[in-house]
Amino acid sequence: MQLISPSTTIVALATGNGQGAIAVIRLSGKDAISIVSTFFKGKNLIGEAGYTLHFGEIVNNDEVIDEVLVALFKAPKSYTGEDVVEISCHASAYIIEKIIQLCIEHGAQLAMPGEFTQRAFLNGKMDLTQAEAVADLIASNAAAAHRAAMHNLKGGFKHVLDEMREQLIHFTALIQLELDFSDEDVTFADRSQLVALLNQLYNQTNNLIQSFALGNAIKNGVNVAIVGKPNAGKSTLLNALLNEERAIVSAIPGTTRDTVEESININGIIFKLIDTAGIRNHTVDEIEAIGIARSKKALEKTDVVIFLFDVNDSLDTVMQQINEWNLLQYKCIAVGNKCDLLDNNLAYMQHHFADLPIQQKIFISALQKNGIDAIKNLLYNMVVGGQLNFEQAIITNIRHYHALIELKNALVEVQNGLQQNLPGDLLTIDINHCLYFLGTITGKIETDRDILGAIFSKFCIGK
Ligand code: GDP
Repeated sequence: MQLISPSTTIVALATGNGQGAIAVIRLSGKDAISIVSTFFKGKNLIGEAGYTLHFGEIVNNDEVIDEVLVALFKAPKSYTGEDVVEISCHASAYIIEKIIQLCIEHGAQLAMPGEFTQRAFLNGKMDLTQAEAVADLIASNAAAAHRAAMHNLKGGFKHVLDEMREQLIHFTALIQLELDFSDEDVTFADRSQLVALLNQLYNQTNNLIQSFALGNAIKNGVNVAIVGKPNAGKSTLLNALLNEERAIVSAIPGTTRDTVEESININGIIFKLIDTAGIRNHTVDEIEAIGIARSKKALEKTDVVIFLFDVNDSLDTVMQQINEWNLLQYKCIAVGNKCDLLDNNLAYMQHHFADLPIQQKIFISALQKNGIDAIKNLLYNMVVGGQLNFEQAIITNIRHYHALIELKNALVEVQNGLQQNLPGDLLTIDINHCLYFLGTITGKIETDRDILGAIFSKFCIGK
């Protein structure tokens, strides 16, 4: 994406394209107000203050296009930092097109995806982490993703990074001091203090990096494959988890269907369940083969596996299945199903399957919907590991994740340098690398235009 010179005024539909009562068309740029005033009949908008609302008509060659409300925002007190006009009109496709066309005829350019937010960034209204949080907020479809995005939009992550930056700059200042006094042969800037500071930064970076596993789960959901031999009860379990008859459960041979994928929301986090059932229209051998192939495919992209087995099977048979799918290499929950057929005798089953090499075991009856909440709780705890704490920064963005890994490597270089007692000027070079990688996250350094393009092109038009 190319940057349009900020001297242009841009326009786009800011609301969604679907049905609605009202649509908002947004303009940003130095001519935003004068452009709209040419076809707005009501008060003369030029000279009006910011944060004001004006009722009037949009008129084209004496034809009234619509009755609208126009909101004015004056630079720099607007989303983009430029003059912004928002026209709230009736959400007819014809009206929207006509008004945008009028804006373009009078000198505005159609905005590119993310261009409003990009201007906000370029005008210093927000840093890159906040701009990216805008996109995340718009995309959030569950409570946790929404809270994480809102936290970052309000500068949660920015604040952590700013502090780290301050500390690095303080570090550089201490080193600089040492350089300035080097003639006088003072060893100083108490190097042990520097080591402590650096260790702290290193740990902070590491914690952020490790939070990405959770952050990714929050943002993109958690893939859960349900594997088990045919008739173990996978579809029945899926239905019980979904709490509805979505996947067709049937004991009638001949029902075929593809892998079923459904989402459930557990305490604000999306879990995507992949059921590998639906292979009945085959001979027993074929069923086995297709079942294994499907399960293997589901396992390729899974984060957590629910291994469903029939408690009426022997320990040996169940062990064979575990080996078949190499389940020990996954985060796995072993779920013994059809406990109702053994009188729900939990003590017996725990004893019978005590030697299963999977730590997390749950015994259920999918048919009777017994033990379903236990599975949900365990899934949540395996991913979140306790309460979600949004006061701590959680990395949800892969770009930040990669930059933090670079930062960590650069911090190790400084640590090594300190250990080897490198002179201050060499240490400063490595510290600058650290500052550089921090800067790529926030956009404080001269950010590559390609990177900016990649970030903002993910937005939709009008944002
Ligand atoms: P899948 O092939 O693994 O998807 O298995 P299904 O969910 O289609 O179930 C196969 C058969 O086992 C069906 O007749 C289900 O009603 C039955 N079934 C599933 N779960 C249970 C359970 O907890 N108890 C009992 N008694 N039967 C079950």
